[in-house]
Amino acid sequence: QGIRWCIVGLGRISMDHFMPAVKLGNSGHITALVSGHRDKAEKQAAIYGVPSNAIYSYDNFDAIAQNKEIDAVYIALPNSMHAEYTIRAAKAGKHALCEKPMATSVADSKAMIEACKSAGKKLMIAYRCHYEPVNLKAVEIIRSGALGTIQAIESDFGFNIPAGEWRIDRKLSGGGPLMDVGIYSLNACRYLTGEEPQEISAYSSVIDHDGRFKNVEENVSWTMKFPSGIVAACNTTYGASMDGFYRVHGAKGMLELNPAFGYSGIHMTGQIGREKIPDLVTAPDPAQFKAQADHFADCINQNKEPKTPGEEGLRDMELMSRIYQSAGLPALS
Ligand code: NAD
Repeated sequence: QGIRWCIVGLGRISMDHFMPAVKLGNSGHITALVSGHRDKAEKQAAIYGVPSNAIYSYDNFDAIAQNKEIDAVYIALPNSMHAEYTIRAAKAGKHALCEKPMATSVADSKAMIEACKSAGKKLMIAYRCHYEPVNLKAVEIIRSGALGTIQAIESDFGFNIPAGEWRIDRKLSGGGPLMDVGIYSLNACRYLTGEEPQEISAYSSVIDHDGRFKNVEENVSWTMKFPSGIVAACNTTYGASMDGFYRVHGAKGMLELNPAFGYSGIHMTGQIGREKIPDLVTAPDPAQFKAQADHFADCINQNKEPKTPGEEGLRDMELMSRIYQSAGLPALS
């Protein structure tokens, strides 16, 4: 049985990836839109067959409570708006799939979890890599012991950000590249090891004094030590193009995903002893968004806990806060 989606925020991730994925997948269909731009919303409504009385603005958002044709919202707004719209959705009696990072503070993240719990609604964070087959295969190979004891992980993800993006306005983003793309490396180190980091040490810098980095960091590099002794070293930046990748080094072998976090073309290589791990490439976009949406619909239909619930988002928020503090930047409290 399909669920009925209300899309909140018609930006790049919604229009280019998530909405096409709902159309192609088995999760259900789009029955409502929330946007500050009526003309843009009308165009999307025509594509997806959304009635014009089911187009909401941010001001009348709470009226979604009266729309019985909405089961769940997908929140794809700037980070600082995630908490407000997740909580308002829960109060309106709707389940919420919220984009990463979950929020801009640990307190807001906890409030989101609490609001969905007390409304009896599901909360899932859109960590699409948890639904992406090549990343899942990497986890399977590591867990099978085929690489031997894992010793170290390297992971990077960054890009050279244009001026004018909301991502470099702290009020909307909550932080710089760590919150936006570094979170992929952080989250990957956690799913690859199946452990939570114990010790964290980080550095941050701004090199380009061209007006872009007045209130968010440009670079963060951090190291994490896990309980087993695995050490992970990660870099993120808004000053250079860095393909999101990871490399996992074990006593018997190594595997690499490069790119690891893209919308398509995710590519695994590696070797165990003298044997090459067969190359594996993921299905084209929007396959992983489809798998993610389908999973949330299954959770709603079968009353199951999502694989990436609010608590998973909260853990990354707490860890990013520790990374910032270690680098001498303000905590995300
Ligand atoms: P975007 O800038 O393309 O879209 C943001 C949307 O929010 C726009 O429709 C914009 O009109 C709307 N908006 C409402 N109020 C706004 C305000 N005050 N300022 C700016 N925009 C406002 O951004 P995006 O790349 O689609 O990112 C949206 C969210 O999705 C972010 O939280 C981001 O971290 C997340 N994201 C996730 C992935 C992923 O692969 N899971 C990829 C990209 C972005």
